[in-house]
Amino acid sequence: MTTVNTPIIAFNRPYLTGKEAHYLYQAVLSQKLSGNGEFTRRCHDFFEKRYGFGKCLLTTSCTDALEMCALLAGIGPGDEVIVPSFTFVSTANAFLLRGANIVFADSRPDQPNIDETAVEALVTPRTRAIVCVHYAGVACQMDALSDIARRHNLLLIEDAAQAVDSYFNGKPLGGIGQLAAFSFHETKNIHSGEGGMLAVNDPSFFSKSEIIWEKGTNRSAFFRGEVDKYNWVEMGSSFLPSEITAAFLWAQLENLDLIQKRRLQIWENYRAGLADLETSGDLRLPAIPGFATNNAHLFYVLTHGAAVRERLLTRLKAAGINAVFHYLSLHASPFFRKKHDGRSLPWSDFYTENLVRLPFFFEMTDEQQGRVIEELRAFFR
Ligand SMILES: *Cc1c(COP(=O)(O)O)cnc(C)c1O
Repeated sequence: MTTVNTPIIAFNRPYLTGKEAHYLYQAVLSQKLSGNGEFTRRCHDFFEKRYGFGKCLLTTSCTDALEMCALLAGIGPGDEVIVPSFTFVSTANAFLLRGANIVFADSRPDQPNIDETAVEALVTPRTRAIVCVHYAGVACQMDALSDIARRHNLLLIEDAAQAVDSYFNGKPLGGIGQLAAFSFHETKNIHSGEGGMLAVNDPSFFSKSEIIWEKGTNRSAFFRGEVDKYNWVEMGSSFLPSEITAAFLWAQLENLDLIQKRRLQIWENYRAGLADLETSGDLRLPAIPGFATNNAHLFYVLTHGAAVRERLLTRLKAAGINAVFHYLSLHASPFFRKKHDGRSLPWSDFYTENLVRLPFFFEMTDEQQGRVIEELRAFFR
């Protein structure tokens, strides 16, 4: 059991702004606890106004938002969807549920995002969509991906789970593809325990997205008085969260700027404290391309080889520091291995074997961060 006073440094601690309980209480008093109420509307407005997303719909998770993308895209058996291998399961699984063949793409050599130069060779007449993941909140090369999608008439879908408040050449992530999915899981910059959101940027999907969200009915249009009864009009499911989730999230959104400011400081401290380990060639630090911003979602280092990483993680653990690796290439997973077409994806495997995420949370103290930095430096001395 860990207690507040143990010297263990957690990998993540979900931040509470202090207003969550207040808004939860308001939601309870309103006696309107099912979805699509006042707090849900506030959250939608926040994202639509601040980032110019076409239409926002809160969901119970990013996984659900991705499943909505697959339904909206009309993905069916035999359709191909291009997805990076170095990502979370849901990025691929959402499309697989609809019968798609997943075609895995490799990562960039300089950072874990999809290698945009390797995507076009994967396009076939059956390809329907490209799903890109903004790893660590750092933008993929969206001009190149948009161009490929346009020329081949494919949907471009952003898995923006980690990418709240981040930009590509001045454009907010989540607002570039026709569809985008965000996560508010407690490991993300802002959270509601579990939670997510679909951003719909292509107006031709507006009405259908709302129907899919509401179990395949036109209930939202009914409540706006646009139809006189509500009916089953599409395939859908129950994707909307209750007002309890939305009320919690609202407290976080009100504090987004404060949260981001502190997270960026923590990120900069790591970079400054570890810079000479990169100069000496012991580690690689995250690369942020000129077209991307940093939203300080996470801080990772790259070791030279799986054996070094193993020793490093063991040492950090012994020092009470919970650093962790990240994704395991999906193309080589027990579930997918036999379905994969056999191409090797060396960069995805490289990040699988060499990436270490350091403890990172809003309330992390400078003293805690100093301990992590010092332990890494001592390891390489
Ligand atoms: C966290 C995450 C998800 C899943 O989010 P949930 O809200 O837990 O469903 C999907 N994709 C990426 C890239 C993530 O980081």
